[in-house]
Amino acid sequence: MTTPKVITRFAPSPTGFLHIGGARTALFNYYFAKHMSGEFRLRIEDTDKERSTDAATQAIIDGMKWLGVHHDGDIVFQSKNSEDHAKAAMELLERGAAYRCYATPEELETLRDAGRDGDTAFRSPYRDEEKVLDKPHTIRFRVPEGKTQITDHVQGDITWDNKNFDDLVLLRADGTPTYMLAVVVDDHNMDVTHVIRGDDHLINAGRQTLIYEALGWKIPQWAHVPLIHGPDGKKLSKRHGALGAEAYRDMGYLPGGLRNYLLKLGWAHGDTELFFTEEQISKVFDLEGINSAPARLDFDKMDFINGQHILQEPNKNLLELASGFLTDLNEGTLSDDLEQRVLAAMDTLKPRSKTLKDLAEQARYLMLKRPLEITGKSSKPLRKEDAISHLSALTLRLKSLEEPNWSETEIQRLLQDYVSEHDIGFGKIGQPVRAALTGGAPSPDLSWVLTLLGKEETLARLEDVITSDFAKD
Ligand code: GLU
Repeated sequence: MTTPKVITRFAPSPTGFLHIGGARTALFNYYFAKHMSGEFRLRIEDTDKERSTDAATQAIIDGMKWLGVHHDGDIVFQSKNSEDHAKAAMELLERGAAYRCYATPEELETLRDAGRDGDTAFRSPYRDEEKVLDKPHTIRFRVPEGKTQITDHVQGDITWDNKNFDDLVLLRADGTPTYMLAVVVDDHNMDVTHVIRGDDHLINAGRQTLIYEALGWKIPQWAHVPLIHGPDGKKLSKRHGALGAEAYRDMGYLPGGLRNYLLKLGWAHGDTELFFTEEQISKVFDLEGINSAPARLDFDKMDFINGQHILQEPNKNLLELASGFLTDLNEGTLSDDLEQRVLAAMDTLKPRSKTLKDLAEQARYLMLKRPLEITGKSSKPLRKEDAISHLSALTLRLKSLEEPNWSETEIQRLLQDYVSEHDIGFGKIGQPVRAALTGGAPSPDLSWVLTLLGKEETLARLEDVITSDFAKD
């Protein structure tokens, strides 16, 4: 017998953004399918019309696209499969595995109250009703006696006593399916072989197993992944910060960095922390490496991993990836010249950046508009005695440095010569020059600042200061 092709799926309900926990579940499904040379499908579970929105569906699709979790085949919309859901409910009725329940909402309320202290879950009094009545009704699953066992790739063997499972509704009185029925029917029709999802659905695996058995369908393999907790160990909530994948994009995380971080969050492969290529991950990703304890978000780790991805990324790609952040800081698209300057500076920007936002901030000094606004603490070095006269003398020297010699080494030498000749500490000129050229924006070694700004811009910024109010103080 040949083993069937592995098919995994991500099945979000479109009620908000792509939650970071959902993104991780999607990633696990995606990498496992890749590892097994299978397929990863996307199903939008939009049967709850009141809570599902098109905007949320779009946010999920966009979030996945940005993160680089690409699904195979067409997207399946659960709401389009209602005929199949109803057909399965009828099949269960015929098999005696389901029954018509005529209980009214008031009746149900009373029954629930009465049953609250009992040790058996909900059973409807219509369970044994044989006549078909002409009354509104739901279709309920007839939970059989006995026990249900599953073997979960993450949680191990789990057994439930069926008496703890409600006779749940499969089809509502208006003919719409419930989650429990729809998910089984769709997974079956999509030939899903592995259900990898959050462990908040673990007990549903027990209930769904019973439905699969009643229909005589092959039960998929299960892997219930612990949810993500906040750094404090509590269930992840708004108070821990960003929850949507798009928020991480807006904070400047690279898709590859976030993928690497989310993958590592609760999944281990020896001590390997960094995964830079999809091939590297696909090769080793397995369900057995998923930790059965909840994972804790760790923003420092996320920054570290993202920083490593920034270091690895080719400079040109980074320029493109950071372009939105650069444009924002520059308050407009960068000129070709400025873009070239940022590109030339990239090797000095990368080691100082954990995110693309950091990267843009590190490049801000290159984008400042003249005359620079130099205020507060940043202006202090310019107010020191001799500062302006040193700046003037240095500017003259820099002017005489020929354009082809405008390099880090030559500039470094010129600055060193100047301080030696005047017998002063480097700070005496270093601080005011840096203030004049960067206005206090983050910047690398001074000789690099001058090199990257170029001769013309450097001299212009220095002269702005020499001829400004600072000179008159
Ligand atoms: N739609 C369900 C949810 O968003 C997931 C269903 C499943 O993965 O079985 O929680």
